[in-house]
Amino acid sequence: MISSVLPTYNRAPLSFVKGEGSWLIEADGRRFLDLGAGIAVNTLGHANPELAQVLKDQADTLWHVSNLYKIPAQEALADKLTELTFADTCFFTNSGTEAAELAIKMARKYWYEKGQPEKIEVISFEGCFHGRSTGAIAASGTDKMVKGFGPLMPGFVHLPFGDWEAVADHVTDKTAAILIEPVQGEGGIRVVPDEALKLLRRICEEKGALLIFDEVQCGIARTGRLFAHEYAGVTPDIMMIAKGIGGGFPLGAVLATEEAASGMTAGTHGSTYGGNPLGCAIGLKVLSIVSDPAFLAEVNRKAGLMRQKLEELVAAHPDVFEAVRGEGLMLGLKCKIAPADLVGKGYEQGVLTVPAADNVVRLLPALNITDEEIAEAVSRIDAAASAL
Ligand SMILES: *Cc1c(COP(=O)(O)O)cnc(C)c1O
Repeated sequence: MISSVLPTYNRAPLSFVKGEGSWLIEADGRRFLDLGAGIAVNTLGHANPELAQVLKDQADTLWHVSNLYKIPAQEALADKLTELTFADTCFFTNSGTEAAELAIKMARKYWYEKGQPEKIEVISFEGCFHGRSTGAIAASGTDKMVKGFGPLMPGFVHLPFGDWEAVADHVTDKTAAILIEPVQGEGGIRVVPDEALKLLRRICEEKGALLIFDEVQCGIARTGRLFAHEYAGVTPDIMMIAKGIGGGFPLGAVLATEEAASGMTAGTHGSTYGGNPLGCAIGLKVLSIVSDPAFLAEVNRKAGLMRQKLEELVAAHPDVFEAVRGEGLMLGLKCKIAPADLVGKGYEQGVLTVPAADNVVRLLPALNITDEEIAEAVSRIDAAASAL
């Protein structure tokens, strides 16, 4: 008989009743060091007191107001996001997938309004992940995600990851946009080199296409910069964010330049919950904490510490690990064994990690993890690797 919860997940036999910072706790009191953070969601750890206070205060004041009306909390968050980034304007969603949908719609609408309705194609890259809507799975194009769900939304062109020089050859007079994660998350913590992001920016300028960055996983200080693309010194026309911005509250957004957003006039898009006061109040708090230069400096210091310990771990287990990769506190252990085996042994040692494609185990801790917790986490992964 089917479970009352639709069985679309392969769940680990763990269930938590409480969270405290970088720790998750089971009903019997067993404590796990959480290096998954809800897959890069719990930016400031579980049950963060500052965020909880904002949530409680806002809950006592106003939760939901329709977008029929002005929402000051939404405007405050949009002001802060546009002040801190390339963007001139923001639309709020409840998830990364919804942000991906709007990013695609916005790019197509842009060219439509420019009198070039034939420009509808979006170029995406092997290993990408942009969500599970029919549009987002069409962008990924992998069998695993699309099989049985056709007909897919047409207009996606899938290129290999890594052959950046060849991209220009695939940009045609039908291309609306190039869509890319500056650091692939689900794809296995694959960092797109700065030079490649610069090249894509140049190609978009030369050939007339919009550049869309998906920073749903790599954004919000995860890589040690507020946004991963800052390392490359180029900016997109459109950017999706979600995951980390809500610190655990469902919140996403599309950020765009005034030009790229020019087709999105009143009545062309909307959302019931997107930009509700509760989510935006929390998002604003998360953003003000993580955008502080002192906070970012700490993320980088901790990232250096963690990376050094992981390099030692890799050297100590040459049969298990191949390399450490990633940027900031978005780290991957490239494995020689099946990543799920290491993740499973980690459960026995009380450490939570997340498998990804390309034989990688992902480490995405809360950005305020302590030095002691980093040392403890790596020693638990060490024990897990020894038990394989
Ligand atoms: C998780 C993720 C998404 C989808 O976000 P949801 O909130 O699960 O809809 C999109 N893009 C990237 C890069 C992601 O990591």
